[in-house]
Amino acid sequence: MTRDFATDPEIAEDLIRRARSERDTDRTGEFSFGDAAIVESWPCRKGCGAMVGVTSAALFALETNNRRLSMMRQPPIGKHQVMWCPECKSADDEEKAAARRPHEQTEIPLTHRRRNA
Ligand SMILES: [Zn+2]
Repeated sequence: MTRDFATDPEIAEDLIRRARSERDTDRTGEFSFGDAAIVESWPCRKGCGAMVGVTSAALFALETNNRRLSMMRQPPIGKHQVMWCPECKSADDEEKAAARRPHEQTEIPLTHRRRNA
């Protein structure tokens, strides 16, 4: 399979998550005054219109990733392709969970058939 992982928004999201946890003071033991500050808002990648706050770590990760993509002559990942708003994220999670439950649907016709027999 020749899927282009470099331009996959989910890969970008993973990179951003990784960059964020690198700076996670709970893991590094560094002193911190609190959560990383939100420096920008990016539109939800689902296109619902919601804006999602991101930290400087997310900016840095996207910039780094896009620099890498440009060296590979690939189009950059846009800020609108990275973040989920909480509502769209849970809707997407539910969609994926439903897709992993293929057997629930087959029970409906079986029950129906039994009732008519
Ligand atoms: Zn959304």
